[in-house]
Amino acid sequence: MDEGAWKKTLLALVLVFSMKTEASISNHMNDFIRAVQWLEDRVQVSDPVTVLRALRQAAALDDVFLQHFLASPKSDSSEMVASASRYLREVLHHQVTEDSREGGVVLTSDGTTVALRPVVLGLEAGLSTGNVSQVHQLTLAGDLGMAIEGEVDLLGADGCWDDLDSPRVFTLTDDSPALTTAAINGGMDGFILGLEASNRRPLKLSSLLKSYYCHQLDADGLDAAPLLISRRRRENFRTLAPPPVVVREAVKAVELQRKLGGHPELGLKQKRQLHFLMERGVKELVVKFVDCPPMISRCMWGARPYKGTPTNLTLPLHYLYIHHTDSPSKPCLSFEQCSADMRSIQRYHQDERGWADIGYSFLAGSDGYIYEGRGWLWRGAHTRLHNSVGYGVAFIGNYTDVLPTQNAMGLVRYKLASCATGSRRLVDNFILQGHRQVVDTDCPGDALFNEIKSWEHFGE
Ligand SMILES: [Zn+2]
Repeated sequence: MDEGAWKKTLLALVLVFSMKTEASISNHMNDFIRAVQWLEDRVQVSDPVTVLRALRQAAALDDVFLQHFLASPKSDSSEMVASASRYLREVLHHQVTEDSREGGVVLTSDGTTVALRPVVLGLEAGLSTGNVSQVHQLTLAGDLGMAIEGEVDLLGADGCWDDLDSPRVFTLTDDSPALTTAAINGGMDGFILGLEASNRRPLKLSSLLKSYYCHQLDADGLDAAPLLISRRRRENFRTLAPPPVVVREAVKAVELQRKLGGHPELGLKQKRQLHFLMERGVKELVVKFVDCPPMISRCMWGARPYKGTPTNLTLPLHYLYIHHTDSPSKPCLSFEQCSADMRSIQRYHQDERGWADIGYSFLAGSDGYIYEGRGWLWRGAHTRLHNSVGYGVAFIGNYTDVLPTQNAMGLVRYKLASCATGSRRLVDNFILQGHRQVVDTDCPGDALFNEIKSWEHFGE
């Protein structure tokens, strides 16, 4: 692209985002994708690398580390960069402020929150160089390296949006200075998308983002869904990024940062220490973000508060009780629908039954997510006389004649169970039972009850 056309693209982009900031554009991924698409249509630039570079430049996303991997900004564009819109800086610069606000993140249609910076950097690296090591260092492995270099663990602080329809402010609810859940989600997505883009060059950036973030599930849920969608980020990351490789790339990123910052090379002992820290960090990442099921927290589905004071469970527990919700009788296939179901179940339990909260510990949607009910720590109201000794997990829907999706069952049978034992919330030899085994009820439905009889840990 010649200099004149480049300037035109960048200027148009700055104008587009500046105008949109004042209007209705929010921190929703769909708004970001719409703006990218608008830009592609308006200036008729479809080449994804050009669009990504213009985005990065307009947002002033540039430092020596990025320059090492990606093309430097055009030298004569500083004036335009300076006038770049607030919006692009806001959504592309990842930061946590002192009042626990996390900037540079967007809400996606599947209910997860994602940092955009590693997504655009991973894509640009994948498209412009196709070098897997570079994609790693510009996405999760690199971010992980920087976050845990200072011996900080506790990964995965999560938070809540001010408004789910028009999200603008994301506030962290966990107190942890290391890599947040949104940064980890974005880091995984950036790596997966960067790798994909290097193998199969997309025609348009907006189309790739749309197919990845906006896929709508049909009645088979995730069982029949394409592989490359955000709902599958954990399984894709597990397949594409083996832990030893992530450790190696995280170490490389830290060493490169030091070198570029003019620091002396690490001695052998320090190198070993760095490697040890990264191994520990990646191990924690795998436990929390690859082995555990993705979970939609209470604030994300719009839970009302617990009425009164919850009773804490004494952990670890010995039982896992399987339920179906019966009503709603249909499986839910989207964040919107599953969240609405969660609210209606909670309303029924609190208002009609007079309970303090939604009864179940967790619920399984058919949208690829586990929804948090009373959670790991609070005693539930799911299995009469047994609520102190076990967690109650309900599949949303009626499973008298049909089974939940394979994906939903896998989330409970493998992911939730191993996550619970791995974190010592359930004992290793816990017993799994259907609700009907301990209380006079049809729950969890004939079909589902016959199914769980073959599951590990099932017991009389
Ligand atoms: Zn039940």
